[in-house]
Amino acid sequence: MTTKPLDRLMFVQGGLCFFCKQPMPKSEASVEHLLASSNGGSNNDENCVVCCKAVNALFGSMSLKEKFQVVLNQKGQFKCPNGAGSIKPAAKPKAKPKVPATVKTDKFKLVVANLKQRGNSKPRTLKTLTSTIASLFPKGISQAELAELIKQLEITGKVVVTEKKLTYAL
Ligand SMILES: [Zn+2]
Repeated sequence: MTTKPLDRLMFVQGGLCFFCKQPMPKSEASVEHLLASSNGGSNNDENCVVCCKAVNALFGSMSLKEKFQVVLNQKGQFKCPNGAGSIKPAAKPKAKPKVPATVKTDKFKLVVANLKQRGNSKPRTLKTLTSTIASLFPKGISQAELAELIKQLEITGKVVVTEKKLTYAL
């Protein structure tokens, strides 16, 4: 029993599209005659590859020269028109931010509330404000988070930093 060219070439190419090197289900694979049959190309394996149906359809009966042009235009990163070649390895799910936004908001609220409570004895310099905020989080707070909180205070206009003096609008 002889194997069908498709099966044979699939095996030879390790199940990958000749052009885009992506794994193809057999249903998406087709035999491409490098030199088109209509141009006298043979059915022999040396003239045939298996590739995504999409690129086979694109090539149609292009001359070998035109096909080369298409291939070379891809600059070594061949993508079949069905996009198979553009499949990127599954993107890693983005690591969740260490501090969920709600927690951050809570912290911000806590800072604002605490500053309000301080009445006239609010920190007057950025340095004391920083240490005041830090002291509100006995479990520890990262420098980045501290900076973020102070930035938030500034952005929301609750603290105005001028020449190292702080004014509050809580
Ligand atoms: Zn392909």
